[in-house]
Amino acid sequence: MSEDSKANALVQVDHLKKYYPVRGGVLRQITAWVQAVDDVSFEIQPGETVGLVGESGCGKTTVGRTILNLIDPTDGEVFFESKNIYDLGKKELKQLRSEMQIIFQDPFASLDPRLSIADSIGQGLRIHKRGSRRERFEQVLDILNKVGLEEYHARRFPHEFSGGQRQRIGIARALALKPKFIVCDEPVSALDVSIQSQVLNLLRDLQKEFNLAYLFIAHNLSVVEHISNRVAVMYLGKIVEFATREELFREPLHPYTQALMSAVPVPNPDYERNRIILEGDVPSPLDPPSGCRFHPRCPSVMDHCKEREPEMKPHSSGSQVACWLYE
Ligand code: SF4
Repeated sequence: MSEDSKANALVQVDHLKKYYPVRGGVLRQITAWVQAVDDVSFEIQPGETVGLVGESGCGKTTVGRTILNLIDPTDGEVFFESKNIYDLGKKELKQLRSEMQIIFQDPFASLDPRLSIADSIGQGLRIHKRGSRRERFEQVLDILNKVGLEEYHARRFPHEFSGGQRQRIGIARALALKPKFIVCDEPVSALDVSIQSQVLNLLRDLQKEFNLAYLFIAHNLSVVEHISNRVAVMYLGKIVEFATREELFREPLHPYTQALMSAVPVPNPDYERNRIILEGDVPSPLDPPSGCRFHPRCPSVMDHCKEREPEMKPHSSGSQVACWLYE
């Protein structure tokens, strides 16, 4: 990460760690730690989308929520517009909440079934005392329009909508306070493939209109390919590769990225990609493997990979990768 890009970053994540204690015995003492996120650093520029990809349980959702200060970090810092968000007082934190929002994977679970769509979307405006009741309602209608819904939807309730429409409502809720940054936590994973591209296009259009920055979390590369400027690949609590979208798809470096890439469908029936099937499950973050955490599943493993952990290093392609193959 260059000093320039750090200085201009909207969000800067520095050595973020989140460990969860495991308690046992009669006295419920801490017996171990689950290393959900372990020393993660990257930055997001205004108007940029950074994709965060990895298998379920690799810590990507924890990264997203810790960046939003919804979860306390164990160590490390997050800066939003150069302010350390963990040092902010109550008032500043409330202001920050309006600038950083989240879109959830399951919009139905995140919407209160007793609130009309107008009340759901307008909740943030009410809490932050933005405008009169009438003005807030006008704003809700405007946002509904922006996410491709109709004004009459404002009076309806969540159960009256399809999955795709509910995700549009989730997006409208996140947009209501005019944030600069949104964590999109697997926003299309629960949707049919035909609806996924509509929601991705909507997110892209809104990004252009409002200069939004996204951290776009997904478990497969094919989803982030269409929306990300840069992509971070995460494995067992650590980022193992960080690259521009073009570079990552042109030359994936880390053996884990190569395996994820081999699962991305190719839109050409005459071309068959060599699928790399990873052996075994993701190891437990309670007791991560020694050395390189990927070594028990890596097709290119070498002896020293089992003992020494590789650090993220710049590669000649411009990407960054943590793998002994490139030392
Ligand atoms: Fe595989 Fe070794 Fe690279 Fe880890 S460091 S990804 S085990 S080659």
